[in-house]
Amino acid sequence: MPALVRRTVRCPCGRRSSTVVLAEGQEPLPLPCTAECERHKRRARLADAFGVPDPEHYVPVQVRSTRTQCAVLWLAMQVCCLSALSAYTARTNPHHLCGGR
Ligand SMILES: [Zn+2]
Repeated sequence: MPALVRRTVRCPCGRRSSTVVLAEGQEPLPLPCTAECERHKRRARLADAFGVPDPEHYVPVQVRSTRTQCAVLWLAMQVCCLSALSAYTARTNPHHLCGGR
């Protein structure tokens, strides 16, 4: 029996994390990003655009460089955000920005 170790796994954007128990030497599978991740990134981006710090929904810097798994969603989100920026007022329900996405 190999020894069991605890490892922390994260999703590509780093928002989700979970502790798993693995056999020593085994690599954990990363968590997938969820729609919630995308909403957080979008909010962070809107906060950036308006210069409003949003510590409650702070997204670590790695988000900007770790986009591999979320690249398509990220691009779609940026387009969506740009078109939504003019309509964005204060902290509305982000669902409204993307027509329910
Ligand atoms: Zn994520």
